[in-house]
Amino acid sequence: MSDVRNVIIIGSGPAGYTAALYTARASLSPLVFEGSVTAGGALMNTTEVENFPGFREGILGPDLMDNMRAQAERFGAELVPDDVVAVDLSGDIKTVTDTAGTVHRAKAVIVTTGSQHRKLNLPNEDMLSGRGVSWCATCDGFFFREHDIAVIGGGDTAMEEATFLSRFAKSVKIVHRRDSLRASKAMQERAFADPKISFVWDSEVAEIHGEGKLSGLTLRNTKTGETSELPVTGLFIAIGHDPRTELFKGVLDLDAEGYLKVQSPSTRTNLPGVFAAGDVVDHTYRQAITAAGTGCSAALDAERYLAALS
Ligand code: FAD
Repeated sequence: MSDVRNVIIIGSGPAGYTAALYTARASLSPLVFEGSVTAGGALMNTTEVENFPGFREGILGPDLMDNMRAQAERFGAELVPDDVVAVDLSGDIKTVTDTAGTVHRAKAVIVTTGSQHRKLNLPNEDMLSGRGVSWCATCDGFFFREHDIAVIGGGDTAMEEATFLSRFAKSVKIVHRRDSLRASKAMQERAFADPKISFVWDSEVAEIHGEGKLSGLTLRNTKTGETSELPVTGLFIAIGHDPRTELFKGVLDLDAEGYLKVQSPSTRTNLPGVFAAGDVVDHTYRQAITAAGTGCSAALDAERYLAALS
């Protein structure tokens, strides 16, 4: 059992590192669990990031995260590339257990575990991520001027992504495995009215093609099993996100989709001394800058909570 720390941060994306930077500069000596597989978070899996303010030429995702990490470390954040596997957050002293079974104690905990975009789980999908395959039109749409693009999905997110992408693209095909959409009526109508958008019904992606960059898809008809080729240079997968909240089920309040609930505009959860920030809370914006922004808010909320204790 360790000494009682001021604050433990679980998660290491833009939200976690920003919370680490702020709490470290406030002399709270944060301990940060970065995760064992994807320390640095979602941007470790991308190439160019052009919309994080302060980098006028853009910056590679992993370089941006290395900078954030180093900046937090410079002010004394203690960073551990390990997962948290259990938590007890109910009392005044919270406990967090790592994969070796060591129990760490703190007066405050900030949760920034992010969310995982759902994948098609097809060969080439990861290899072509950032090379034609994307999960975020706001992030990457700009790179697809005059491209032929496929958007996969039938919900509001897919319609929103397709409508946004039609500003840049030559054409957008929405590929959906059924013959009707789940999206709200208003979103559907906007997509139907867009002259650049067309639909491929009853179809799913069977194969993703490309060497170095995306060159096309093989589609399979979900009713007949027939396959066809779709030559596209952009693929946007919009089939949902899963917030990483397994650890917190039955511990913290979650919404219907499994995201952590906070008392907006603060980052307070339902338990005193426990704060949450970034994509684990956010259904709506899901950007590095918004995650960093709420990470800052969580650090300031934790700082005030700790100050009130003493
Ligand atoms: P994440 O970045 O997801 O980080 C969460 C971290 O918590 C991960 O490292 C994970 O390993 C860790 N973690 C989870 N569970 C545990 C645990 N139990 N113990 C320890 N650690 C844990 N946004 C932009 O603004 N611009 C872009 O250009 C852009 N491009 C993108 C490209 C791709 C391919 C993707 C997937 C996303 C992109 N985004 C972009 C979105 C952006 O990456 C996210 O909005 C942002 O990373 C969310 O930050 P976060 O800190 O909330 O979570």
